[in-house]
Amino acid sequence: MNTNIFQSIPGIDACKKAIFDLDPFWKTLPQDFLRMKLTAYWDGVRNDIKKGRLKRTEDVVLERHLKKIEKYLRKAISPNFTRVINATGVVVHTNMGRSELSEEAREAVMEASRGYSNLELDLATGQRGSRYGLIEDLLCYLSGAESAMVVNNNAAAVLLMLDTFCHGGEVIVSRGELVEIGGSFRIPEVMAKSGAFLREVGATNRTHMDDYKNAITDETVALMRVHTSNYRIIGFHEACDLEELSALAHEKGLLMLEDLGSGSLLHFSDAGLPDEPTVQEAVRQGADIVSFSGDKVLGGPQAGILVGRKDLIERCKHNQLTRALRCDKLCMAALEATLRLYIDPSRARQRIPTLRRIFLSGAELEERAKALKSALSSLEPHCRIDVEPDVSRVGGGAFPQYDLPTWLVSLRPRMCSAQTLKKRLLETKPPLIGRLENDAFCLDVRTLEEADFGQVEAVLREALALKNPVQPGQS
Ligand SMILES: *Cc1c(COP(=O)(O)O)cnc(C)c1O
Repeated sequence: MNTNIFQSIPGIDACKKAIFDLDPFWKTLPQDFLRMKLTAYWDGVRNDIKKGRLKRTEDVVLERHLKKIEKYLRKAISPNFTRVINATGVVVHTNMGRSELSEEAREAVMEASRGYSNLELDLATGQRGSRYGLIEDLLCYLSGAESAMVVNNNAAAVLLMLDTFCHGGEVIVSRGELVEIGGSFRIPEVMAKSGAFLREVGATNRTHMDDYKNAITDETVALMRVHTSNYRIIGFHEACDLEELSALAHEKGLLMLEDLGSGSLLHFSDAGLPDEPTVQEAVRQGADIVSFSGDKVLGGPQAGILVGRKDLIERCKHNQLTRALRCDKLCMAALEATLRLYIDPSRARQRIPTLRRIFLSGAELEERAKALKSALSSLEPHCRIDVEPDVSRVGGGAFPQYDLPTWLVSLRPRMCSAQTLKKRLLETKPPLIGRLENDAFCLDVRTLEEADFGQVEAVLREALALKNPVQPGQS
C-alpha cells in the first residue's frame, strides 16, 4: 500500500474553503456541523484506501472529490425520512410503512398535531378523561365486544394480555401456531417476557380438541390461538374451531385469548381471497379477548387493538405496562377517523387505500396499466414498455401465498440493465420501488394511483438520463 496516499488527503480547512468557493450557501451551515460532516466524508475515503478501493495519490486530490462532497453535504441536510412510491404491488408493505392512511385519517392527524386537543379531557365534565374513551364506543359497535382499548402495536397488545392474565401461569398454544412474525416477534419469546409459561400441544400440522383437553392442569390459565399470518400449511392440516375451544376454556374456568394478527372487520372473499374470520366473528365465537393490528389490512395507523370482556379490558387498562405501551394522540386521531369509515363498510372500501387496493378488479387494473403506459410514452425511445398480467400480494403477513391477479407495466431499458434502473430509482426524489421480473423493471399498478403517474414519469426520466451509459447486463 502506498502510505503516502494518506498524507495526500486534504485538510478540513482547505476542503471548507473549496466548498465555500463552489457555493457560498455552505457558509451558512453551523460550522461544527460542517466540520463533522467533512471529517466523516474523508474518514470514508480513508476506509476505501484501507480496503484497497482507492490506490493512487491522484484518487484523493480535492478537485476530484468536490462534486461528491457537495452531494454528501446535500444529503446530510435533507431529511432521511422520505416518501417513496410503492410500485411493488404489495399493499401492506412493512418496509414501506404498511398502510397508507385515508384522507379522513390524514386530516385528523393534521388537526391533532396543530394544537391542543381533548386527548384525555372529558368535555362533558371538564375533568380528566381517558384516551381510550375516544374510540371505545366505536370499537365496541364495530366488533360487538363489551369493551376495547388501544396500545402501540399488536405485539404490545399480545404482551399486555399475557402479562395481565397469564403471568406465572400456563398458556396452552398449538404447535402449529408458534410463529415468528417479521422483525423477530416470536410468540414463545413474547410469552417468556410476559412471565407466562408456554404449553405446546399437538403437531405442526394437526392439533385436536383432545390435545388441549389433556394438557389442562391446575396451572393452566388460558388457551390461546395465534393467527399463523405469514405462513400457510398446505395439505393434511387441521386446527380447532374457535367456538369449540372457547366452550372448553369456559367449562374449565380458563380464558380464551385470540391473537388475530392482521385483524379485519370485513370479508375479503369478493377480492378472491379466502374467507378469514373477522374480529366480530372471533368475538361472537367466544374469545374473551381478541387482539389485532391497526396498520395491516385494517388500513389505519400503527396500533394494537384489544377488544373483549369489560372486566378483562379494565384489568389491562390498570396494568402498569399499559403506560409504557400506550399510543400517542396522532395515532388516536388517525385510528378514530379510520374506524369511523367502517360504520358504512362500502364507504370503508372506497375511502381506505389498503381496502381499495385489495378490492381492485382485474379490469380496473388492466385499464390503469394501459393508462400508465400511455403516461410514459415519451420514454419509449429509451425503453421498451409493455403491459402484462401478473399477481400481487397483500403483504404484512396477511393472506400468505394467496395471489391477487394484477397488471404490470414492464420497462426494458435500452441503455442499461433493468437491475441498474432499479438501483438508480432508489436515489431519485422520491425513490420509486418496483420489482424485477424476466429482465424487466416492473411497476405493479395495484399500489399506484393515477395521481402518482406524473411523478412516476419524472423519476423514470431522471433515472434513465443517459449520463452514465451502462452496458446491458452490468449493474
Ligand atoms: C403482525 C402480527 C403481530 C404483530 O403485530 P404488530 O402490529 O406488527 O406489532 C402479532 N401477531 C400476529 C399473529 C401477527 O400477524
